Amino acid sequence: MKIIPRKDSNEEFWNREMETMSWEQMMELHNEKFLKQIKYIFENSEFYKNKFAEANVDLGDIKGIEDITKLPFTVKMELRDSQLEAPPLGKHMACQKSDVARIYTTSGTTGRPTFIGVTHNDIEVWREAAARAFWCGGFRPDTIIPLIVSPFFIAASYADALSTIGTVIPIGVGATERVIAAYQYCGANAVLATSSFPLHFAASCRKRGVDPTSLGIKIILAGGEPGASTPTVRNAVEGTFGCLFLEMMGNGDMCSQMWSECRYKRGMHFVAQGIVHPEIIDPDTLEIQEWNEGAKGELVLTSLDRECIPLVRFRTRDHIEVTQMDCECGRNAPGIRVIGRTDDMINVQGVNVFPSAVRDYVAKYAPKVTGAIEIQIHEAPPEGWKPPIHIKVEHGKEPGDLDELKDELQKMLREKLIFRSDIELVPPDSLPKFEYKAKLVRKLYEEK
Ligand SMILES: [Zn+2]
Repeated sequence: MKIIPRKDSNEEFWNREMETMSWEQMMELHNEKFLKQIKYIFENSEFYKNKFAEANVDLGDIKGIEDITKLPFTVKMELRDSQLEAPPLGKHMACQKSDVARIYTTSGTTGRPTFIGVTHNDIEVWREAAARAFWCGGFRPDTIIPLIVSPFFIAASYADALSTIGTVIPIGVGATERVIAAYQYCGANAVLATSSFPLHFAASCRKRGVDPTSLGIKIILAGGEPGASTPTVRNAVEGTFGCLFLEMMGNGDMCSQMWSECRYKRGMHFVAQGIVHPEIIDPDTLEIQEWNEGAKGELVLTSLDRECIPLVRFRTRDHIEVTQMDCECGRNAPGIRVIGRTDDMINVQGVNVFPSAVRDYVAKYAPKVTGAIEIQIHEAPPEGWKPPIHIKVEHGKEPGDLDELKDELQKMLREKLIFRSDIELVPPDSLPKFEYKAKLVRKLYEEK
């Protein structure tokens, strides 16, 4: 492993040159790296050789990054099929088998797991991207972080970046006592987790007679699911621990970390300059959207520096909104928020409903509600997507009149998200709790 000297705590950026470059400078860099990467893909990836041939594109047609639009999109299902045809890493593996240094497993929230291979160079590139993201979120050489993750997940790779910046304490999952001990006896002072973890963790601490504010947590960086940027969730977590709560995002197929919020909390900055090229498309018309404040669409990513499984125009299924094109912190790359994911989307009579948006709107009623919801889909779509949509909502400890609250929530969802719901209020802590990602939709028809 490359040894990187500790950085000065007062430095604003992990990589000043990359993180402060203008959009034009970034495009110049991406042009150069894209041409090199696409040549490598044309020469080494059987999957893309076939795909590009079908789309009638030759390497000679690609003269610069602007020609990226000539290349077809890649979707997750193709990667799964490619892995079934050529296990374990698929026909899109572009390096030699013997150059694969690690294989990670994705969480499989949308079906069977896929496998992600990385070479030594990929590990270094991911470490650089994640270090920029964590530094942007405020991790410094004196930061001590328990890493609460199973070793087979991409998130386990964060250990590389974390120990480059500060100190990492490997923990694993399902070991609450050990996590608490890391704060009480090892001087841990930060958390890296999914957005739903901190409040569950606070509840576990209280159950053991430990006051969450006594743990000395200064920063919590959360990703893996939307939620950290929801004001009620953010306020609840910051109040509970007396810390800063920021959001970040990567993509298991693409790069472990690419987006990270700074202390100004206006959106997640793009920090993967020279590593990944981002595009926004209209998911229905596939038209490209300009990177401007307020732009909305699906995030599409292309590898610029990947050896094992480089991907071209990979549709992330993440729907984003551009929140800023510059920032007080000096980062010049766009900032975004995730509005929702296509995979969990429900279509109620032509209206797209994102479960995370339902959760966010319901959470505004705290403390009358706990913020936990579960959408119940009883029949397979389209039948199961007919209104009213049955939603279980946990009420708080003092919810007041339950019938009134139910009416209020149904009316609000109808106004804000334009669909008819049938809210069932359930007692606090009665919905399942997840250590990794909160599951907002329960497909009961799959359990029959
Ligand atoms: Zn900033």
